[in-house]
Amino acid sequence: MATYFTLAELLKSNTAKKNGIDNTPTFEVVDHLRELTEKILDPLRAAWGKPIRVSSGYRCPRLNAAVGGSKTSVHMIGYAADLQTSGSFSKFRDFVVAWFKSTNTKFDQLLLERDEKTGDQWIHIGLYNNAGQQRGIVKVMEVSR
Ligand SMILES: [Zn+2]
Repeated sequence: MATYFTLAELLKSNTAKKNGIDNTPTFEVVDHLRELTEKILDPLRAAWGKPIRVSSGYRCPRLNAAVGGSKTSVHMIGYAADLQTSGSFSKFRDFVVAWFKSTNTKFDQLLLERDEKTGDQWIHIGLYNNAGQQRGIVKVMEVSR
């Protein structure tokens, strides 16, 4: 399996940089990010065949608060990534939803998110929730960042 996503990409945050937040992960978080990459991000990227941008991966608690993330967000344990691609968002969204179905890949949450202020859209993929469950929830969400 080809590897597309780097750890650096999953840690990078403009908000962290701007606010002087140290977004260094623990070893456990690194393991989780690796698991997320191996189980979902890389195979999904290989199937999609075009670049996918991680707009948000790991968030330390301070960074999560700074971006207005949920208090229980699994971005804080390295089990989630927000994805964007250039071109049509609806095409990407439909592809991702169909990919999970056709490959029977287990996940916890697939959130089709849209920022109500900027109109920005992205797909949040969560591998497990904080209880280690994979509930297979698909939801459309309006958020405010
Ligand atoms: Zn997210």
